[in-house]
Amino acid sequence: MTALKFLGTGGGRFAAILQTRATGGVYMFIEDSSGRTRHFHVDPGPGALVRMLAAGLSPLETDAILVSHCHPDHYADAEILIEGMTDGGNKKQGALVASRSVLDGEGDFGPSVSKYHKAKPATVRAISPGESIELFGINVEASFSAHSDPASVGFRIHTPRGIVGYVSDTALDERVIKAHQGSRVLILPVTRPLQMPIPYHLTVEDAAQIIGAIRPPLAFLTHFGMRVIKDGPSKAAEWIQNRTGVRTVAAEDGMAIDIGQELKIF
Ligand SMILES: [Zn+2]
Repeated sequence: MTALKFLGTGGGRFAAILQTRATGGVYMFIEDSSGRTRHFHVDPGPGALVRMLAAGLSPLETDAILVSHCHPDHYADAEILIEGMTDGGNKKQGALVASRSVLDGEGDFGPSVSKYHKAKPATVRAISPGESIELFGINVEASFSAHSDPASVGFRIHTPRGIVGYVSDTALDERVIKAHQGSRVLILPVTRPLQMPIPYHLTVEDAAQIIGAIRPPLAFLTHFGMRVIKDGPSKAAEWIQNRTGVRTVAAEDGMAIDIGQELKIF
């Protein structure tokens, strides 16, 4: 089975602090080359542990934790989830793949995972745009991200059912569009509403530009800031779909998608 579930769709400082929407990240189920389903957890922000337990998912079954950059709405629960992935720190297993800022610190950012926790997984890898790593036979590439943490990355996860493109916090940039070409499912962080840009983040029209240039079979909007939540994320998705003709869905907390021959949302 290849599927993904949104353990949170909030983003930015106030939506995370006030938990206007959950911030548990994206949980993925990916079939590896031996047919076994692997569990990847991307950007476990505040409350990720609680949200996954509420969804009936066991933190003891995680195989890999991926962290895109050094802001707490992306990394806050990483350490406790590393403890889960490594059976309470007792087994050297699982993988932690993250930006250099998260693992080693970079300029004013990080590190945001302690030495103690970095010593626990079997694989720990700081990754930069353009680099890739094989995890259980599943290729994970780091993509370019133009964000305030200069070491930020996005991810391209090559599942047997196509590429899931995870764009992390970024400004609109040609290099982001180029990096995510060929995605079957594209996930974009829409922190800001129409005509309300702030540096280093995507507005609704920026997301439309990326989606229109990549034209994936399905695009998800997530990581909504307060203003987007207030205006209604589904209105943003509708605006983008009308403009681009690409199927675009505003993710909701707990929403899941089965990535099979078809793309089924439930
Ligand atoms: Zn950020």
